[in-house]
Amino acid sequence: MKHVGVLALQGDFREHKLMLERLGARVREVRLPEHLEGLGGLVVPGGESTTIGKLATEYGLDAAVRQAYEAGDLSIWGTCAGAIWIAREILDYQQPHLGLMDIAVRRNAFGRQVDSFEVDLEVEGLNAPFRAVFIRAPEIVRAGEGVRVRARHEGRVVFAEQERMWAMAFHPELTGDDRLHREFLARLVAS
Ligand code: GLN
Repeated sequence: MKHVGVLALQGDFREHKLMLERLGARVREVRLPEHLEGLGGLVVPGGESTTIGKLATEYGLDAAVRQAYEAGDLSIWGTCAGAIWIAREILDYQQPHLGLMDIAVRRNAFGRQVDSFEVDLEVEGLNAPFRAVFIRAPEIVRAGEGVRVRARHEGRVVFAEQERMWAMAFHPELTGDDRLHREFLARLVAS
């Protein structure tokens, strides 16, 4: 059985957890470094990236996640605020973050809360459009050489992949379409 964690400091980690459990994964809420033990994957949810970043640093989770990733087995999936947290560079803001993935992001790039929207997105690797929910979403404004772009909205990068990391500007856990959760689980090295 695949064993995955959801970073449960703040944000909508419960929705991710439910979706992963429905797919048969064993899911652990991660709040402390020792909760990473034995995990094959970690989902970092949407929410407020400043809060997630501050709490993660306070609990030593940034260093622990980096170490687990570099040890070679952990896959990391950042959605919305989670994508901001894993990005190497955050434009215009100074905030604690993981900084592992070779992308730069701009927070709230599509407008403010009232400008949240849904769109049918073409995603590379999926055979039909994915209904994507954007809520004060970031944009991926730069993707390094080892980064593959898997989706754009109006020309702007909203889903990128690098090695065992995914960064996604939208919320894939809110519509009931579990294809991306399924793919994430299928690709885990360890479980
Ligand atoms: N705007 C939030 C941030 O910058 C992200 C929003 C979300 O995760 N839905 O942290």
